[in-house]
Amino acid sequence: MKRFIVFLSVVFLSAFDGYAQEIIQRKFEKMGSSFELTLVHDDPNEAERLIEESIAEIDRIEQLISSWDKDSQTSQINKMAGIKPQSISKELYDLIERANTIARLTDGAFDISYASVDNLWSFTGEEIHPPSPSLVEASVNKIGFEKIKVNAKQQSIFLPKKGMKIGFGAIGKGYAADRVKALLQTQGVKAGIVNASGDMSAWGTQPDGSAWQIALVNPMNKNKVFSWFSLHNTAVVTSGDYERYLLMEGKRYGHIINPKTGYPSQGVVSCTVFAPKAELADALATALFVMGEEAGIDLVNQLPNVDALMITDDGEIITSQNITVDETN
Ligand code: ADP
Ligand code: MG
Repeated sequence: MKRFIVFLSVVFLSAFDGYAQEIIQRKFEKMGSSFELTLVHDDPNEAERLIEESIAEIDRIEQLISSWDKDSQTSQINKMAGIKPQSISKELYDLIERANTIARLTDGAFDISYASVDNLWSFTGEEIHPPSPSLVEASVNKIGFEKIKVNAKQQSIFLPKKGMKIGFGAIGKGYAADRVKALLQTQGVKAGIVNASGDMSAWGTQPDGSAWQIALVNPMNKNKVFSWFSLHNTAVVTSGDYERYLLMEGKRYGHIINPKTGYPSQGVVSCTVFAPKAELADALATALFVMGEEAGIDLVNQLPNVDALMITDDGEIITSQNITVDETN
């Protein structure tokens, strides 16, 4: 049986031991992060072709949602902020609608319009001078998913204030993972895992019929496994502050912004969410950082088929009601 480690890259703990179906894996960099595709297939050449197709699909999504690419539809929306509505593809329009649904669900803790404060912070792991409170306040006034004007008929989006901006950093990789999974399933791939730098979407089983296994590892002590989980046609996403963070007056802040204050979130160091779709899990993992452990777990407990595990900066582990953590593992 092969097992996967979340937080670290996905690794096999035992070598493959001979079935007609093989496990084919490829690692690559896309969307500024490392991806890994794992396919169960009986034809390695066909599997390689499907991996190429998956990579092309990720490129396509990146071109749609990237805020860095000034020609992307997302950049067009941002450029037209305070000027006029921008007509966009149905795919992006629907993604924005779904993002706003999650924003409502999380009371604005997840909010794609957080991005108007993006230029105030840089998460390089270094000590920074805090931006002036008046600057932060001016940016916060531009945040608010409920301000985004959507027009289904025109299929257009309008950000009514100049300087308003949207960004898909907290949902894009999850969306890409779901799309690649769907693409591979439509092409007849019976089992696999898409791992978009900790955003994992799995389906089917390993060649020997056993479930995909992942381990949750303590980010502060990566040798310590909390718990093993079987993945059955589910997604699991981890957001952590250990890669992108900054220091202010000696205190550590993660790269997730509290849209209500404009300041980076504090207190939660890692958040893992299980959900049927990686897109939802990705957005929720981000929201839980902002909401904190109590409100976050409370929300998750009310959502069907969603579970979460959170770790606070004082090392406390909090889980939703369907998760048990075995620390002796
Ligand atoms: P990771 O990139 O580590 O997987 P996330 O999925 O949580 O982490 O995404 C964090 C990114 O989401 C940030 O780098 C930023 O681009 C964006 N973001 C930050 N705060 C918010 C927020 N409150 N709502 C939506 N997006 C956010
Ligand atoms: Mg996220």
